[in-house]
Amino acid sequence: MRWSEPQRAMLREMGLRLWRPQTAAAPGLASPGTTGPSHAPADEWAGSIKPKSDAPPIAASGLALTAATMDWPALQSTVESCRACSLCENRRKTVFGVGHLRAQCMVVGEAPGEQEDARGEPFVGDSGQLLDRMLRALGLSREATQPDDAARQVFITNTVKCRPPRNRNPTGDELSACQPFLQRQVALVQPKVIIAMGAFAARSLLGSDEPIGKLRGRMHRWRGVPVVVTYHPAYLLRQPADKARAWEDLCLAATCLAPRAD
Ligand code: SF4
Repeated sequence: MRWSEPQRAMLREMGLRLWRPQTAAAPGLASPGTTGPSHAPADEWAGSIKPKSDAPPIAASGLALTAATMDWPALQSTVESCRACSLCENRRKTVFGVGHLRAQCMVVGEAPGEQEDARGEPFVGDSGQLLDRMLRALGLSREATQPDDAARQVFITNTVKCRPPRNRNPTGDELSACQPFLQRQVALVQPKVIIAMGAFAARSLLGSDEPIGKLRGRMHRWRGVPVVVTYHPAYLLRQPADKARAWEDLCLAATCLAPRAD
């Protein structure tokens, strides 16, 4: 990938170094517990977000069978009227997702916050702006920059589609109840790579309670789709020192994307 001057300026502004394609063969897909890339020594993985250890495990949901055959309109309308968990009680809007419906890159966050709940769109506010800047630095965007550009436009969604009250963490039951919608979204998008942002995105997709610091920096697979785990932008706003590691993760994800002429 060639960096345009605006991209270089953006990375400099964020204090991030330029990504250089790895010269080795395409990165292998590692299972949890394998060693990360050589540029990310183990002692750098400390200070990670840890999911609540007392949360119940994710179980299969009754929605799974019906959601598994839905097309986009049916899926969206089912989410909008969904009352499968208690998060429906206080939501203003469901947050289904935005972006290209066949995007090469899919971003999965955690749960809608107050602004997302009000607008019905994932990743708005400061954390959304940070995500947009980081995606832009890779030449990606949540918005269409030209017609039907699945290579540039991402699809962004969350693990649960309704806002937990007072921005609390989603429970295991809520993650489980909403998981069939996420699974169907992935099946419909068929991305080349999923970027899982935050502990609950990793938990929903990989079923892992390991901290982000142990999961990031390497490839996983979920139903055959490569998954890169990284820090949630809201965490990065509180811990800017970890932006460089998040950037490495995004660059790792970009190795799964088809090369572009520019
Ligand atoms: S969070 Fe998901 S499962 Fe729960 S009510 Fe909303 S759409 Fe339904």
